[in-house]
This record gives sequence, structure tokens and C-alpha cells, in this order.
Amino acid sequence: MNELIIPPTQLSLLVTNKCTAACQNCCFQCNPKNKDRLSLDKMKQYVDQAVDAYSTIQLLVITGGECFTLGTDLNKIIKYSSDKGLFIRVVTNGYWAKSPEKARIILEKLVEAGLNEINFSTGDEHQMWVPYDNIIHGIISALELNLTTAVNVESSKLSEFSINQLKSDCRLEKYIHFLHKKLFLLGGVWMPFNKSTEEELNTFGEERKKELPILLQQNKSRCSSLFNSISIDPFHQVIACCGLTVGYIPYLRMGLAKKYPLKFLYEYQFQDFLKIWLFTEGPEKILAFCRIKLNLPPIETTKWHICQICIEIFRNEQYILILQQNYGEVFQSVLLKYSLLREKYLKIKQLKIKDHEKKR
Ligand code: SF4
Ligand code: SF4
Repeated sequence: MNELIIPPTQLSLLVTNKCTAACQNCCFQCNPKNKDRLSLDKMKQYVDQAVDAYSTIQLLVITGGECFTLGTDLNKIIKYSSDKGLFIRVVTNGYWAKSPEKARIILEKLVEAGLNEINFSTGDEHQMWVPYDNIIHGIISALELNLTTAVNVESSKLSEFSINQLKSDCRLEKYIHFLHKKLFLLGGVWMPFNKSTEEELNTFGEERKKELPILLQQNKSRCSSLFNSISIDPFHQVIACCGLTVGYIPYLRMGLAKKYPLKFLYEYQFQDFLKIWLFTEGPEKILAFCRIKLNLPPIETTKWHICQICIEIFRNEQYILILQQNYGEVFQSVLLKYSLLREKYLKIKQLKIKDHEKKR
């Protein structure tokens, strides 16, 4: 099996399902009432295990829910992991950045602990809970502290708020217009997890298509989110990816980190041909394969997010049965393609590791 393994380059801790917001279409249905979280001790154990098992792990992503609700435990896990040489990224809705001063004080402490990068999430639904100005305070403080800063803006057919508002905000002018190399504005696709918005959000409008060409092209491709990260949720469940629909696909849960070693759970997935197939050819081709076998007409998925196609497959028992009965037909060709891809991946990962070591 060793010849199939692609070592991970990151550890992602989904530290809690508690959030100060309760966005209607949050993929993990986080809200202020949730209380589940990883303890500081457990987080440290997972960092130790991951780093000891794989020298390829360079990045720790701390996300949730809202990871800033951990309070000083957030500073402690950043310090602990940074001391081990990891690059640290946090993902937040920015609720704590109530004023420029407050944002600065909080971020200064995290930078002191070893934080390297911050990702803010915002958009129409987020702004029902967290004011837009918080994001601005957060971005400016982060950039002034020399943090790499990304802003992920919910993007769907219905979105009113878009990246353009950020680009034209005069408070960000000096960072945007001087091509600040540390600021990244991204349109993160926002998917329906709530029935009432499902219909409207199911397709992208023409305008949005122009803005998100890469996301739309993704459907045609393989799933590159697999085999990259060890991701652990607040229930200690190791999940195969952080895809938008992962919470709804039991198949992508790989086992409990508090019961089995992370290395075992991570590597066990390489015995699973379907994951290798997803990684190599992507869910769209797999769905097409199922429909041909069932003598069904193809489904038009060009407007779907790649993870929507994935859930379409896994919630249909008929497809799963067809895959179990017929995967042998593509087994050799997929494995051959996978081996070539894997070689390419390993080369890229080696280069990244060398680059990271130089920066340490
Ligand atoms: S801010 Fe993020 S984690 Fe919190 S409810 Fe909204 S989408 Fe979910
Ligand atoms: S396509 Fe499937 S396996 Fe890939 S990220 Fe999305 S949910 Fe995960």
C-alpha cells in the first residue's frame, strides 16, 4: 500500500462547532448554542501525532465554527504549534474585531504566539451576524502586523455583497491599489444547505459565472482536496476533506482520532479505491459512469459545485451499488493515472517542503 500513499501537508483542526453567528447555509450548521470543542490537551496531542508521523506537514489550519471562541486556548495552541515549526492559519468571521484598537490588541497577541495567516469570512449571510466594519478593522490590523490576510466572500446567485465592495472600500485603498502582496480577496462559493434557499442557489447567474470561472471549471476536474490534509472535527472524527458537503456524507468520515492513531486513519483511506477514483477523475465522471450503467440520461452538472456532485452520488444507494459491482472495469486505468498524478504531487510537495524549511 505504501506505493499509493500521498503524505499530507497540512493538519486542519475544526476546533469547535460553536460560532457567534448562525448563518442559514453554514455547511456545519454552527451556532452560538453548540458547545462541542477539542480540548487544548487533545489539540496538542493531535499536533504532536501529525508532526511526528509526517515531516511533510507544514501548515496548521485552525478553523471551526469560530475558533476565536476558544479564548486563550487559541493563543496557546498557536504558540505550541508554532514552536514546532508549523505555519499557522486561522479562519474567522471577525466578530472580535469590534474596533481598530480591539482588533489590533487581539491580533498582536496572536502574532506574538506565532500566527502567520488569517482568513476572514464575510458576505450577505455573515453580515447578518457580524458587521462588515469588523472585517475592515480585522484586515487593516492584520496587514499592519504583516500577516498574510485572505478574505473569503460568500458567492452565490443571490449574493448582493461581493468582492467589488471590498475593492472599492477607500479604507483598503492603500493595500489594494499598491498591490499589497499579503492581501487576497477570494469568492468562496456558498452552497444551499437550507431547503428554502436551495432552489434559488442551485445555479449561478450569468454575472456570477463571469466572476467565478475557476469554480465552474472545477466540476470537470478531479477532487484535489483529498489526500492533502489530516482534518479533525470537534467530535474527534477524522474527515477525508473539508469539502462543503462533507458533514452530510458519512462515507468521508474515517474514524475517531481519540481511538486510533492519526497515521493509521489517514493511510487507511489509500485502500479505498473510490477515494482514489475521486481524487484521480472527480465526482462528475463517477456520476456519469453510474448513469451509463443504469441506462439513465446524463445529468447536467456544469452549474453545480464539485461537492454537490459528490453528495448526489453518496446519497443515492443505487449509485453506490453500481459502483461496488462495476468498479473493476476502470480499476487498472484509474490506478495508472493515479500513479502518474502521485509522482507529480510528490515532486511538488518536496519542493514546497524545501521552500518551507528555508523560511524557518
Ligand atoms: S460564520 Fe462561518 S462557521 Fe459561523 S455560522 Fe457562519 S458559516 Fe458557519
Ligand atoms: S468533491 Fe467530495 S471528496 Fe472532494 S472536497 Fe467535495 S465533498 Fe470532499
